Amino acid sequence: MTRVGTIGNRLLATLPPADFDLLAPALETIALDQDAVISREGDPVDHVLFPHSGAISLMVGFADGQTAATAVVGREGAIGTLSVFGPAPSGLTAIVRAAGLASRIPAPRFHAAFSQSSAIRCAIQIHVRAMLVQLQRSGACNALHPAQARMARWLLHIRDRMDGDVLPLTQEALSQILGVRRTTVTLLMRNLRAAGAIRSERRGHIEIDRSKLVAAACECHGTMRLELEEVFSMNTTRSGPPDGAGVSA
Ligand SMILES: [Zn+2]
Repeated sequence: MTRVGTIGNRLLATLPPADFDLLAPALETIALDQDAVISREGDPVDHVLFPHSGAISLMVGFADGQTAATAVVGREGAIGTLSVFGPAPSGLTAIVRAAGLASRIPAPRFHAAFSQSSAIRCAIQIHVRAMLVQLQRSGACNALHPAQARMARWLLHIRDRMDGDVLPLTQEALSQILGVRRTTVTLLMRNLRAAGAIRSERRGHIEIDRSKLVAAACECHGTMRLELEEVFSMNTTRSGPPDGAGVSA
């Protein structure tokens, strides 16, 4: 079994054993329940969380109640790490879109280990760079690419962090992620179904055809996957390869 297979999270798996051991006594394994709100915009950051499985969307909310997703985090990332740069409330709301497991650690314990370990600082650097890449691309995509291609992209981001083609998403969740009305989601779903990219939808489960969904998505999905791998490979060369457990194929 690879270290990622043992440890579960790709960032934690980059750590040499001695550095991982700075965190291990305080790590707690928790379930990421479907639709759970992991953190809310404006709340203090109590824990840093490292998913082993599942998918969490980062959401921005507006005064009129509208929302849009800016990123998806799975076992390649973490939630709450920006707290190492200083005390500040959470800037985003994080919602579980596909259930899974995670390790979490109280933020003060993580900050103490961060200050002691260059390997932990390197892991956070990887994560911050990967998030910046995703957020920049996502911002441009939201401005320039059609809603249908963006819906296909978000479905693929979540699929990449799951083991199967049945995604536990409601139309309401997609409306929140895309920042469009439910009626628009219904129309987009119909179009993707006609293209064969969505096989079926019932009771909050959407079955996709991955290759057809890739064809329906904008270029951003493929580009973001490549950019993520580049960030990991550039930053882990000194300590060895990341034993191949990024987002799944
Ligand atoms: Zn795009």
